[in-house]
Amino acid sequence: MTSDQWIEKSDKYIMKTYGRYPIVPVRGEGCRLWDADGREYLDFLGGVAVNNLGHCHPRVVKALQEQAAQLIHCSNYYQIPQQIELAELLCSHSFADKAFFCNSGAEANEAAIKLARKYSRDTHGPERYEIITAADSFHGRTMATVSATGQEKVQRFFDPLLHGFTHVPFNDAAALEAAVTSNTCAVMLEPIQGEGGVNIPSAGYFQEVRRICDQHGLLLIFDEVQVGMGRTGKMFAYEHFDVVPDIMTLAKALAGGAPIGCMLAKDRFAAAFVPGTHGSTFGGNPLVCAAAIATVRTILEEGILNRTEEIGEYLVGELETLGKKYPFVKDVRGIGLMIGMGLSIPGAEIVKKGHARGVLLNVTHDTVLRFVPPLVVTKQEINTMIGILDGIFAEVEV
Ligand SMILES: *Cc1c(COP(=O)(O)O)cnc(C)c1O
Repeated sequence: MTSDQWIEKSDKYIMKTYGRYPIVPVRGEGCRLWDADGREYLDFLGGVAVNNLGHCHPRVVKALQEQAAQLIHCSNYYQIPQQIELAELLCSHSFADKAFFCNSGAEANEAAIKLARKYSRDTHGPERYEIITAADSFHGRTMATVSATGQEKVQRFFDPLLHGFTHVPFNDAAALEAAVTSNTCAVMLEPIQGEGGVNIPSAGYFQEVRRICDQHGLLLIFDEVQVGMGRTGKMFAYEHFDVVPDIMTLAKALAGGAPIGCMLAKDRFAAAFVPGTHGSTFGGNPLVCAAAIATVRTILEEGILNRTEEIGEYLVGELETLGKKYPFVKDVRGIGLMIGMGLSIPGAEIVKKGHARGVLLNVTHDTVLRFVPPLVVTKQEINTMIGILDGIFAEVEV
C-alpha cells in the first residue's frame, strides 16, 4: 500500500489523539527511515529520544529475536531472569538499589508518585502526600501524571485533577522552598526539561533543591524518561549536576524502542512497596528486558557516551554557526544530544519543510527546535541536516 492509502485508512480507524504528519515509516536503519513510498528520511527526532542506538540496532534485534523464540511473557508471579539481570545492570551503574518495571514513562512516574506517598505516609502519617513539580514540566498522560505536569494544555478538559500537586517555576530554588508545607512529601523534576522546551537549569540549582529536600525530609524524584540512557553523554543526566536523587524514572530509550518503564530507588524508600501495593502485568517481561539489557550493554561497551558528548558538541557548534546567520534564532542550548534551538518565530512550518526535504525535525513548546537524534548520528548526517536547515531558514520571512 502507498502512504496515501495508509493515511486514508488511518483517518477511518485511528483516534485523532495526535496531529500526525503525512509520513508512513515502514523501515529503519541507524539514523535513516524509509516510508511506504520508498522515500528516505534523516531522523533527528529518534522516535522522540527513544531510538538512542538508531533504528533496528543489530544487538537489540538479535536480543529480541532470540528471546522471542525462548519465552516472550510469563508473569510477575514468578522470577524473571532477564528482569533481574536488567535491574542489576541499572543499579550497578546508578545511585539506586532496587528497580520496579512497567511499560512507559507515565507508568514509571505513577510508580514514583505512589512510592513517595506510601513511604511518606508510613513515615510521617496520612497528611503527608503533596508533591511539588515544575511549571512547563512533562510527566505523562495518565491522570496522576497529568496532574503532576505543569502545562495547562495537557491538563485542560480533564478536571477534576488528582489532588496534591503544586507547581513552581523551574530553576528557581527560592520558589520551591516557599512552596514546601508540612504536607509536602516529594519534589519531582526533570533534570533537563524536554517537552517544556529543552530547559537546562543553572549550576547550583539542584544542590539547592537537594538541600531543601534534605532539610524538610522530602524525597527527590528525577524524571529521566527523556534524558536518561546516554542522551546527555552520561548514562543518567543527574551525573552532570553533582546531585543524587532518591528515586529516578526511566523509559523512552531504555529498551531500544521496545515499550518499557522503570522506577529506580534507594533501599530505604523502595522498602515501602510490599506485596500487593503496586504491580503490572507486562512490566519487565522477558522480551522487553532482553531488549533493554542489549541496549544498556551496547551503550556501555561501544563508547556511546563519549561519542555522544563529542558529536553533541559538534552539532551544537554547527547549529550556533547557522544561527548567527539568522536573526530569528535566539539561542542554542544543549548537553550531549539533548539540544534545543530557541526561535523568535513558530517552528511548525520549518518542521514541515524539513519533512518535504527528507529530514525529520521537531518543534516543542511552539518555538524551540528540538534535536534528539540517535546517539550514533554521524558528522556527515549532521552536515546534511544543517545544509537542509540552512536552505529552509533562508526562505523564512520575518
Ligand atoms: C515522554 C515523557 C514521559 C511520558 O512517557 P510515556 O512513555 O509517553 O508515558 C514522561 N516524562 C518525560 C520527561 C517524558 O519526556
